[in-house]
Amino acid sequence: METDGAGTVESVPVVPTVNTKLCSGCGRCVAACPHRLITLEVDGFRKCAVLSKPELCTRCGLCVQSCLIKALEP
Ligand code: SF4
Ligand code: SF4
Repeated sequence: METDGAGTVESVPVVPTVNTKLCSGCGRCVAACPHRLITLEVDGFRKCAVLSKPELCTRCGLCVQSCLIKALEP
C-alpha cells in the first residue's frame, strides 16, 4: 500500500491493463507511475496508454487511481 499525498492507495492484485476502447490518451497514468512504465503511443488517429514493461510493475495501483474514466483495469 502506498500514499500519493491525497490518501491511501490500494495496491492491485494483478498488473493493470489499458482498456483501449475507453482510454482518452490524457496522460494522467503516465505521470502517476513512479517507475515510468506507461507511455502514450499513437493508435490510429489518437493516443493511447501502453504499459511498456509489465514485468517491472509493482502493482502499486497509482495508475489505476489516476484514471478518471476507469480505463485502467486491475
Ligand atoms: S500499478 Fe504502479 S508500477 Fe504498475 S504501472 Fe501502475 S503505477 Fe506503474
Ligand atoms: S489515465 Fe486513463 S484515460 Fe488517461 S491515458 Fe491513462 S488509461 Fe488513458
